[in-house]
Amino acid sequence: MSRFFCLPDLEAYTPGEQPKEGQYIKLNTNENPFPPSPVMESLLLEKSRHLQRYNDNTCKELTEVFAQYRGVGKENVIFSNGSDEILAFCFLAFCDRSRGICFPEISYGFYQVFAQLFSVEGEKIPLAEDLSVNPRDYYHKDKCILIANPNAPTGICLSLEEVRGIVEHNPSQVVIMDEAYIDFGGESASQLCKEYDNLLVVGTFSKSRNLAGARLGYAIGCESLISDLNTIKYSFNPYNVNSLTQLLGTVSIQEEAYFQECRQKIMETRETFVAGLEDLGFHTLPSSANFVFTEHPKHQGEALFAQLKERGILVRHFPKDKISSYLRITIGTGEEMRIVLKNLKEMVDS
Ligand SMILES: *Cc1c(COP(=O)(O)O)cnc(C)c1O
Repeated sequence: MSRFFCLPDLEAYTPGEQPKEGQYIKLNTNENPFPPSPVMESLLLEKSRHLQRYNDNTCKELTEVFAQYRGVGKENVIFSNGSDEILAFCFLAFCDRSRGICFPEISYGFYQVFAQLFSVEGEKIPLAEDLSVNPRDYYHKDKCILIANPNAPTGICLSLEEVRGIVEHNPSQVVIMDEAYIDFGGESASQLCKEYDNLLVVGTFSKSRNLAGARLGYAIGCESLISDLNTIKYSFNPYNVNSLTQLLGTVSIQEEAYFQECRQKIMETRETFVAGLEDLGFHTLPSSANFVFTEHPKHQGEALFAQLKERGILVRHFPKDKISSYLRITIGTGEEMRIVLKNLKEMVDS
């Protein structure tokens, strides 16, 4: 740290390890194991011939295609450089410093980092005994509400009606649902945005749309919420979504069959993998995401993590209260998950 740094206490987010390509079976950051649709390649090349010009700061074409796909108006959508950026915009736009924000005690680690960065008090609401989010714990709050749904790293999902309950019982608060993993088995709350002016749904192309490296996130909400987020965007970085990424996002929406195929494969692989884990004595939380959160009664999470790493398999372990016995394992290809099961079998048998 330099002697000039003004935020000496800031604890930055620690991203999962990004090792050299091919060094590990990489199941630690919930990426999609499949590459984006091959259709994108030639289009990207053509687009790259115009990179001397600024990109379209309104993301016009992407917005039109996406809004129609989601059945909302163009004025109900905003894009960002990954959904982390839109979450940062939300903190700036909707979190009053005197009241703060609340989110689940165990959830996406970035929420706490943003709370600290933007000097808003983060109230951490404990999970239920079974590590689920209890919707009633979020009724009648006096501050902004932020929930990952499905939650991370548990994978447990709230139903649409449970989300509606939270939104209805907080008419004076903005309720932000972070739906990074919604396409792997949950039901998006974006359809409720027409009914409630206090609901904002945040999503990303990083997980279900195979585009983690392209950095594309979005928010869906009523026109005035989106307008506020645009005010923040145009006060911070108007050209936040580069032209290649806008193109990739548009093509991803148009390649619906490919999207469905990838997500179906991942969900099927998840079910097979969970059954395999159960045969080995693991207890796995019910996952609606592209990862599972699992523990073994006889083996510690940290030891399993280290042994898997030695065997060339990278997963995620959180040395935190209540979840330190668990591993978070991203669902890769069927072949990758067979290799993981084979290794886990050797480890728990020995
Ligand atoms: C991965 C993830 C994000 C961030 O996604 P990006 O669009 O890649 O920034 C946001 N929220 C949750 C819960 C995530 O797991």
